Amino acid sequence: MPYPCSGSAFERAKSVMPGGVNSPARAFGAVGGTPLFFERGQGAFLWDIDGNQYIDYIGSWGPMILGHAHASVIAAVEEAARRGTSFGAPTEAESALAALIVAAVPSIEKVRLVNSGTEATMSAIRLARGYTDRDLIVKFAGNYHGHVDSLLVAAGSSAATLAVPDSPGVTPGVSQDTLVLPYNNPQQLADTFAAHGDKIAGVIFEPVVGNMGCVLPDPEFLLVLRELTRKHGALLICDEVMTGFRVAYGGAQSVFDIDPDITTLGKIVGGGLPVGAYAGRAEIMDHVLPAGKVFQAGTLSGNPLATAAGIAMLTELRDNPPYEQLELRGQTLASGLSAAAKSAGVPHTLARCGSMMTLFFNPNPVRDWDTAAKSNTTAYGRYFWRMIGRGVYLPCSQYEALFLSAAHSDEDIAKTIAAAQDALTDS
Ligand SMILES: *Cc1c(COP(=O)(O)O)cnc(C)c1O
Repeated sequence: MPYPCSGSAFERAKSVMPGGVNSPARAFGAVGGTPLFFERGQGAFLWDIDGNQYIDYIGSWGPMILGHAHASVIAAVEEAARRGTSFGAPTEAESALAALIVAAVPSIEKVRLVNSGTEATMSAIRLARGYTDRDLIVKFAGNYHGHVDSLLVAAGSSAATLAVPDSPGVTPGVSQDTLVLPYNNPQQLADTFAAHGDKIAGVIFEPVVGNMGCVLPDPEFLLVLRELTRKHGALLICDEVMTGFRVAYGGAQSVFDIDPDITTLGKIVGGGLPVGAYAGRAEIMDHVLPAGKVFQAGTLSGNPLATAAGIAMLTELRDNPPYEQLELRGQTLASGLSAAAKSAGVPHTLARCGSMMTLFFNPNPVRDWDTAAKSNTTAYGRYFWRMIGRGVYLPCSQYEALFLSAAHSDEDIAKTIAAAQDALTDS
């Protein structure tokens, strides 16, 4: 038993929590075996409760773009905590965080802070429906927008179909207002708008997909997406919970020149504390209560610790932007992993946008869920565990992106590539 403390911690966890975790991906279901339990993180590293050290490429699934326990974030949280952890009343820090977001993203004039990415997307689609007085929402197969009932619908249909619920507990009544289309397919989008255009409240999408592995958008797809939504009076909801402040300070919309109506944020924007946000033009956001009539509230929304962490994070990213360095190190890591796979004779595709990337165990280009789903997940699981054995903690699923942080050094990356060479060759 190589990880005895994690093993017994997991047994105890399973006796008091469903599946032993508070979010399913953490249980390692996609790679087999049992999860590691962690004690501490610093910079690019994590330490498990058995005392092993890892170079971490999950980064809390995205938020840790500056590495773990970044000094200015920790100091901001400590300082805020001494003044009290929640008031349920306005604080100036909330407008300071909102102002940082407004200044970073040109399509955003006003911001509502919530507590998670899920809350952000749930509220964004409610706003789109309230604003347009229409019911239908279009989403794309393999795009994840949190566990919102109406967005938790089956992927994989190649035609525009009324969606089937992805989970027990999501009623057909809720999911029938969601249309699922293949990503990167402008023709199907056009057909859907031709058939239902006057009933579509909004289209929600990941501008760079991170949740079926890293998948890049075709420029043509993005153009058609904006044209059709505009033409039919539907709102374009750019879900930047993962990409916001990750692929650039202005998000993927600044990289790919997208002008959405609503943007959803999370992950980095909270500096590792629970924060989400939905945001957009004032004329749209002013439909939210109490400025407008679309209800949305939160006891802990704009929480003082969370906003302090978010302000410290965004201020650091604005004043010392790590994006060029992340791009260079991202290139090095990607080409190193790719070369390692090639020399080991492993059929693969590497997809990357800045500091997020996926080594697909798949010889063909991945552009939508159907092509992603042909990846060899068994081979990924083997690679994952061999990398764990070599001190590298990768995403515990083929269908999750790997994240680099500003704390990863050239040496960490060289070690990772060497580990991958070993891990991919050793069969
Ligand atoms: C993580 C994620 C969400 C959900 O955010 P939570 O904070 O986990 O609720 C939504 N959309 C995208 C694109 C994400 O990556």
